[in-house]
Amino acid sequence: MRTTLWGTLALVTTVVAGVFIWGLGDVNRVAATEFPLDLNRLRAAALASGEPLPLAMGEHVIGVGEFPKGAIVAGESLLAKQRLVFRTHVLGYADGRTVVIDPVHGARLHEKFYGDGFNQRAWELMQKALARASLVLATHEHFDHVAGIASAPDFSALHAKVLLSREQLQSAAIEDAEFSGEQLDQLVPLDYEDYYSPAPGIALKKAPGHSPGSQMIFVHFDDGREVLFVGDIAWSWQNLLEQRGRPRIVSALIGEDGTAVAAQLATLQEILPASSASAATPNGLQLVLSHEMRPDRD
Ligand SMILES: [Zn+2]
Ligand SMILES: [Zn+2]
Repeated sequence: MRTTLWGTLALVTTVVAGVFIWGLGDVNRVAATEFPLDLNRLRAAALASGEPLPLAMGEHVIGVGEFPKGAIVAGESLLAKQRLVFRTHVLGYADGRTVVIDPVHGARLHEKFYGDGFNQRAWELMQKALARASLVLATHEHFDHVAGIASAPDFSALHAKVLLSREQLQSAAIEDAEFSGEQLDQLVPLDYEDYYSPAPGIALKKAPGHSPGSQMIFVHFDDGREVLFVGDIAWSWQNLLEQRGRPRIVSALIGEDGTAVAAQLATLQEILPASSASAATPNGLQLVLSHEMRPDRD
């Protein structure tokens, strides 16, 4: 009887440990061909209107958080810490028009999910930028990228400028951003197939995986610089540079398609040589990960 009990305990412990170790591991590598990304097509879409292009880009760093490294990069220690930033970007045109990308959540949600590290002043400045914006876009529908819209002081003046895709608006995840039913009713979904230009110099590319509504946002500036906002396909540069995605267990918890993300990571790594050169060459492509600044920029 005792032997059976110990045997069962040993078996259960082994299974639990096995699932835990498996859960901390990465999904298998996927070929880049599984996620085709046509930069020429993005550029052509962004330039198609022939209208003046964005001149510059700024950012509001609204919050920071510390997370176990092992929850961000498969195979890393759960005891080591990684700092992530929460930021909103603003693109500006010569005529004063602006485009806001990924309006970050407010103080209450930050405290609830990430503890301290919230900059109220920066959030208020971001809200002013939102109020002045002519267009608002999001890389995806997670609350840390869209809750700034739901919590805007004057949503009635904002909603007509917000361009979220149907996939973003219909995703279950958008509930975490705390939009009211009335607010969601006022947001008109954007329907497009694969590539779409919402404004001069800007083109979207569907990239479902991290969330159903994930998309890349490509920007071609007036001086020829190019930027690709990849949202949360990678939380850290390590995900991308070492081709190690989030641990399986984290992917499962946030409901992402880890295989799709792995293919996107492979594709982004293929175009990375061009982006790495962007710090020195004006015509390179710069990748923007939502939550970590470029390793060579900080
Ligand atoms: Zn996300
Ligand atoms: Zn995020």
